[in-house]
Amino acid sequence: MSSECLFCKIIAGELPSETVYKDEQVTAFRDINPVAPTHVLIVPNKHIASTNELSEEDEQVVGHLFTTARKIAEQEGVAESGYRLIINTGPDAGQVIFHLHLHLLGGHRMRHPMG
Ligand code: AMP
Ligand code: ZN
Repeated sequence: MSSECLFCKIIAGELPSETVYKDEQVTAFRDINPVAPTHVLIVPNKHIASTNELSEEDEQVVGHLFTTARKIAEQEGVAESGYRLIINTGPDAGQVIFHLHLHLLGGHRMRHPMG
């Protein structure tokens, strides 16, 4: 846990959030400023600042982020209609919170192509 990190505080229950899923490895909660009808953030409970800080020992938890995303998509009713999974890393991608998080967006038709 990083004492400066907003998402570490949410994971620890020190800041409020609308949690939709939690287990020993990951926590998922609704984005405070949703950009789609479903906008959930899925984060590792371990503080990892971004994909730039990933190491081989994190491979299991990164896989778990994705299987959790699949479960949440089903739970939110967007598995069939479709959804987008996004990870922002660094300034050009607009990363604001430096605790790795997977955005799950769904519930409306999204712009394509990206970028
Ligand atoms: P990113 O640009 O990928 O770093 O996205 C950070 C996301 O965190 C944004 O979509 C914010 O709306 C969201 N966010 C910031 N603070 C909170 C919070 N306290 N609870 C839930 N989501 C948050
Ligand atoms: Zn953190």
